[in-house]
Amino acid sequence: MRPGSRSLSFCLFSGAEALLVRDTDLVTEICPSPNHGERRGCERPDHLILHYTGMKTGAEALERLCDPQAEVSCHYFIWENGSIVQMVPENRRAWHAGQSSWAGVSDLNSRSIGIEIVNSGHDWRGEGDQLPDFPAEQIASVIRLCADLLLRHPILPRAVLAHSDIAPGRKSDPGEKFPWEALAKAGIGHWVAPAPLSAGVSYGLGDEGPPIRAVQALLSVYGYDLTMTGVFDASTERVVRAFQRHFRPALVDGRADFSTLQTLRNLVAALPSV
Ligand SMILES: [Zn+2]
Repeated sequence: MRPGSRSLSFCLFSGAEALLVRDTDLVTEICPSPNHGERRGCERPDHLILHYTGMKTGAEALERLCDPQAEVSCHYFIWENGSIVQMVPENRRAWHAGQSSWAGVSDLNSRSIGIEIVNSGHDWRGEGDQLPDFPAEQIASVIRLCADLLLRHPILPRAVLAHSDIAPGRKSDPGEKFPWEALAKAGIGHWVAPAPLSAGVSYGLGDEGPPIRAVQALLSVYGYDLTMTGVFDASTERVVRAFQRHFRPALVDGRADFSTLQTLRNLVAALPSV
């Protein structure tokens, strides 16, 4: 299916499911997914999770997100040309986050709105092993939709997150090509300018001691699910990589170098005090 090939429609889910109506006028198409349920312990979403589809084509991804066997879905799906599709009503629990954790919250599906952005991602790189770009018109729609959601839901800037932030051991999306800085300039998400790459102190796998515990503490304070063991283990490396993908995308190598640490310190220092 190509973008825009369906007319706008309303759809009655089978059984007791809700009538799907557009939650926002930004939606150009409705493509209902059967994969959703009741939110648990949370009436209003307070997190926003951004994904890339990670499949060869957007059409394949959309089909999978509607497949009852796949048991995955999202609230919104954004094509390369910026068309926005609604798949699950915002008051329902879509199944996009999977096993995940952030700042002590483990059922992110119950607490979030999920947006899938069409991009083939790490598994379908282009020439020269480059990650595919996100077209400008697509990002413009991401920004419009996020701004609209932030007006309607109690989502703090620091709760606008990558799938890789909440599931660093399993997920890499939306990836280091995703323009978080452009979103921040539009008032979406928490952000500080990344510290420039430079020589200097750098920690990696196998290092241990108080500096490693301090790095783990800062990542954990920010929200990442990490145990303060004082040992730079594989899970620490995965979290550092997730941090870099979001906040210091110039180099994603899983090493806590000076620039990564400085960016992390600045980010934590920029958190509101209440
Ligand atoms: Zn994802």
